[in-house]
Amino acid sequence: MFDKILIANRGEIALRILRACREMGIKTVAVHSDVDRDLKHVRLADESVCIGPARSTDSYLNIPALISAAEVTDAEAIHPGYGFLSENADFAERVESSGFVFIGPRAETIRLMGDKVSAKKAMMEAGVPCVPGSGGPLGDDAEANLALAREIGYPVIIKAAGGGGGRGMRVVHSEGALINAISLTRNEAASAFNNPTVYMEKYLEKPRHVEFQVIADEHGNAVSLGERDCSMQRRHQKVIEEAPAPGITEEERQRIGARCAEACRRIGYRGAGTFEFLYEDGEFFFIEMNTRVQVEHPVTEMVTGLDIVREQILVAAGQPLSIRQEDVEIRGHAIECRLNAEDPATFMPSPGTISQYHAPGGPGIRVDTHIYNGYKVPPHYDSMIGKLISFGATRDIALARMGGALSEIVIEGIKTNVPLQRDLIGDTAFRRGGTDIHYLEKRLKAHG
Ligand code: ADP
Repeated sequence: MFDKILIANRGEIALRILRACREMGIKTVAVHSDVDRDLKHVRLADESVCIGPARSTDSYLNIPALISAAEVTDAEAIHPGYGFLSENADFAERVESSGFVFIGPRAETIRLMGDKVSAKKAMMEAGVPCVPGSGGPLGDDAEANLALAREIGYPVIIKAAGGGGGRGMRVVHSEGALINAISLTRNEAASAFNNPTVYMEKYLEKPRHVEFQVIADEHGNAVSLGERDCSMQRRHQKVIEEAPAPGITEEERQRIGARCAEACRRIGYRGAGTFEFLYEDGEFFFIEMNTRVQVEHPVTEMVTGLDIVREQILVAAGQPLSIRQEDVEIRGHAIECRLNAEDPATFMPSPGTISQYHAPGGPGIRVDTHIYNGYKVPPHYDSMIGKLISFGATRDIALARMGGALSEIVIEGIKTNVPLQRDLIGDTAFRRGGTDIHYLEKRLKAHG
């Protein structure tokens, strides 16, 4: 096992990784920007290195600074967390060529899955159901593109192969708008992602977002840990996640999970990953794979009893997974509410000093956060300041516990989305379960 791991991230996920390392008897190196000296994990880590100024391009995205931090501290492996460089194939490559272990898939796998056209192609070959579409890049032949859209049926969506973060896509409702939409998306993709490749898919009008967590080792063992529902989204940002997904049957869980695990074996996947699907009228449609640990991994941990970060570290060290598919059992229900430093009505970020913090607690409550009394939320990074996770034998119990935790939690000095989360946990349609990906935005509009 590794003696020392460098954590190339900040905030709650850096703390989460530090905790896993401590449990495993692994020393930790925290890296941080100028304004992040007081992060909780920086204080708890065995060593810390300042890697640059506040701007992420100068610090958390600064590959040479990260590599030299690993060199001077004699770290053996680097955990990238999520966001920042976690899905950057060049970073993974540099880490490995500098003699360190990248805690994640091989660089070529990240590259394959980072291009949505090649990812979809690999998934179709592995028998994973995909959204019907062009099956490859769109060419310049207008007649051929019109014929293709007619065959798929309107509405269609034009997407950039290199797109991410909900950017680089355009919905087309009728034939008259198609050709212009393709060239607009192509131009945007060329400038935003340095890759003009676009493709076409059927646009699903009221899908849910259902994703499957997998984890694979280098000994041919690939395991599905079941699914999560992340349909409560605003601007493609997840707000609430839960596991299992309401209404998904054991048969669907087994069938789609097995396809995902099989796809992992075929592409030689290593580590934790997520297959994202749109789910509509009882059918699953693959849209993309995330090749890293996700924000919402705790809900899967709660219902499987597995520590996903620990498994990531085991696998990166070349060890076998600690479980087999037949040992995976989904028990109870878990819900996660993301806590953001933002105005609950306008969604404007609200950085500043936390003057009071009281954590909620009690049975089935988990709080993953780096905040503390007096912590200053810097304005330079993502506004997420933590996650509240509830677990119960049933969804109703998990909902009741989340309601209790949201009424107990006190965060003062900055604005947070706690009031919005309280509203949503009490929302009739959400409580019923199975709302689609547009539900939250429609609700926010209606409540003006
Ligand atoms: P990104 O990498 O930018 O997140 P995705 O391919 O995951 O891109 O798509 C982001 C979101 O866009 C999806 O969660 C969904 O809301 C919407 N979307 C993408 N493809 C489709 C589609 N074929 N039909 C309907 N909505 C889609």
